[in-house]
Amino acid sequence: MRRISIFGATGSIGQSTIDLIGRGAFEVVALTGGANIAQLASDARRLGAEVAVTAFDDLLDALRDALAGSNVEAAAGQQALLEAADRRADWVMSSIVGAAGLEPGLRALRHGTTLALANKESLVCAGPLLMAEAARYGATILPVDSEHSAVFQALRGEDIDAVEKVIITGSGGGLRDWPLDRLASATPREAGTHPNWDMGQRITIDSASMMNKAMELIETKEFFGLPADKIDTIIHPQSLVHALVQFQDGAMMAHLGAPDMRHAIGHALSWPDRGALPVDRLDLAAIGSLDFHTPDPARYPALAIARDVMACGGLAGAVFNAAKEAALDLFLDRRIRFTDMAPLVARVLERLDGEGCLEAATLTLDMVQETDARARVMAHDLSGAVPADL
Ligand code: NAD
Ligand code: MG
Repeated sequence: MRRISIFGATGSIGQSTIDLIGRGAFEVVALTGGANIAQLASDARRLGAEVAVTAFDDLLDALRDALAGSNVEAAAGQQALLEAADRRADWVMSSIVGAAGLEPGLRALRHGTTLALANKESLVCAGPLLMAEAARYGATILPVDSEHSAVFQALRGEDIDAVEKVIITGSGGGLRDWPLDRLASATPREAGTHPNWDMGQRITIDSASMMNKAMELIETKEFFGLPADKIDTIIHPQSLVHALVQFQDGAMMAHLGAPDMRHAIGHALSWPDRGALPVDRLDLAAIGSLDFHTPDPARYPALAIARDVMACGGLAGAVFNAAKEAALDLFLDRRIRFTDMAPLVARVLERLDGEGCLEAATLTLDMVQETDARARVMAHDLSGAVPADL
């Protein structure tokens, strides 16, 4: 039986993963979560996990109580998370949100596991490191972002050198149809509502700003090893075409499917086979038409920032991701406005570039983590000074 761990099991991706593995025969090794102890404990009991880990040290007693009478071990804190990643598993879901997902994923890769990667932040802040470690330890990374799973599927049996362009689609997020001059007044609640996808709060707001799509451009470059000028994004409000690959003979392969993350997760779970999945089937005649248009750079300044990050390389991705996470925290705390996030991220990148902090021939975990910490502090320091308008 395949041994499976889920990092970030209590989140949106984690719960969809649990839904799928609950339907099959798997041995569950580790489930990790944060403050939602009741969910973590009940899933760990039901699935007979070896260990359940909360990221928070002070919740250990609560987790122990919730697991009393079961055979599931309880553990807490960062070190416990890494120890869970050291337990032998054949397939690991990396679905912690944010840069916090990087180290557990790297640890799992070092055991030669198959890492189903939802945590795109790992590739944004340390793509070359992650890919090099996977190659070194004979591990496999399977993309679980819907667009990247779509590209991965369109590329099956194809030669990457025959690819002219990869186009990832984006819905444009919850504020897509707002007048530009209203965006500054958007609240976290308004930005945190998505027209098509049911996701965690952070990625939903990142979709509204298209910071998520900016991350995904970088993710595409790092995972598929494509140059930035071969990667593009397009707005597709229906979220039914997830990505397209254009080849040198002019053919375009599009991946279509219902907006349900269980498709990308299930694909990674069955890979290299194609298993049956309980996702909705598309009725194209009922859908009728599919719309596409070019993203407006004034509405989505994050996309230009991603271009700069890709051109720069080195530690620019680590700075971008950390500044973006800090900017989102500040927005969630109502200390900056929705439209202040992108200028703040751009400023942090500019400052650290000016200080020569983005250069790095090869990345190490220490370098990435130090740079991440520095970028977060700088984002907080500069947050009072972001321009009022884009
Ligand atoms: P979520 O907020 O719903 O869940 C996040 C999980 O990470 C939870 O289990 C939480 O307890 C855990 N966590 C949070 N902070 C942590 C920390 N500091 N240390 C350890 N664990 C921590 O997020 P989500 O929407 O499921 O997204 C998870 C990842 O998948 C993100 O990287 C996101 O970008 C990516 N992703 C999500 C979707 C989606 O549909 N939700 C789609 C594509 C990619
Ligand atoms: Mg995506």
